[in-house]
Amino acid sequence: MSKFWSERLQATEPYIPGEQPNNTNVIKLNTNENPYPPSPKALKAIQEATDETLRLYPPPTVNELRETIAKYHGVHPDQVFIGNGSDEVLAFSFMAFFNPGEPILFPDITYSFYPVYAKLFNIDYKRVPVRSDFTLPVEEFFQSEGGVIFPNPNAPTGLTLSLIEVESIVNQNPDQVVIIDEAYIDFGGQSAVQLVNQYENLLVIQTLSKSRSLAGMRVGFAIGDHQLIEGLNRIKNSFNSYTLDRLAIAAAKAAFDDEEYFQDVRGQIIHTREQTSKRLHTLGFEVIDSKANFLFVRHPHVDAEDLYLQLKEQNIFVRYFNKPRIQEYLRISIGTADEMEQFIIALEPVL
Ligand code: PMP
Repeated sequence: MSKFWSERLQATEPYIPGEQPNNTNVIKLNTNENPYPPSPKALKAIQEATDETLRLYPPPTVNELRETIAKYHGVHPDQVFIGNGSDEVLAFSFMAFFNPGEPILFPDITYSFYPVYAKLFNIDYKRVPVRSDFTLPVEEFFQSEGGVIFPNPNAPTGLTLSLIEVESIVNQNPDQVVIIDEAYIDFGGQSAVQLVNQYENLLVIQTLSKSRSLAGMRVGFAIGDHQLIEGLNRIKNSFNSYTLDRLAIAAAKAAFDDEEYFQDVRGQIIHTREQTSKRLHTLGFEVIDSKANFLFVRHPHVDAEDLYLQLKEQNIFVRYFNKPRIQEYLRISIGTADEMEQFIIALEPVL
């Protein structure tokens, strides 16, 4: 650690992403990527955008893509902010809407990037303990001092809050920003985007990394009141004004224009999730009711870390969390039906 690092940086423990093995022979069920390729229209758009215009900076306001997303979600383009993956949109949101000295609230079991950003930006936070069944105690998120953030569905559990529950949290924090991180919303939850015209303090963040198979392109976006979006633009223009590259813009636009492919892919993943969940139940696992593209599971008689290591030996990567309260659990991303079959076959002898 360098003596020159700021105190903020010294206090920050960086986020550790899941392994990204180079070996293409692995079944990769550890970082919630989509097992299906991006829409063929998106791939074609990337090729078409690979031309001499790459010498030019991309359009800083990303207007065309904002219009596409606005139209898709039934809002005004001024209500859309686009960033380099939703992780960046989250970082900008922490900077724009949360203040040092006014603690924000998020669940104790949740996306591990939130405490990292909070420490980096010097924002106090309180972790609200989830119940023993991992559900969120909704009232505990009412009347926060500095704002609220949580994923819906939550990660790594996959549990969702209903729209009414989400709305109650937004309603009970009228003077603070409430951020709903909807990275996994397309796999079965109810999106809060339909509430943004009613609540000036609501920001909904989504990504193209999961349901639209574009994790490698890094595109995320926020939808909210135009004043919140203006705040995010101010951060962007003060920090990194060209967030999205030309290829990402082209891919994202084409992905939104291919509704049929999107519906097909997410339908398959939901179906495979339900099938996998049943198989795991039959093998004696406890499986949390997930509405995301992953399952959060434990086996009452087999150690989760052992399972993780034994699967890894067979080139099957799942996620094991070495954290209080959840170290007995594995998070398994939903792959293709064939990959999940191989996963189950690999599991059986080690149980
Ligand atoms: N939010 C949650 C809850 C996530 O699990 C992830 C993926 N790790 C993200 C946001 C970030 O996704 P991306 O930056 O790829 O859009």
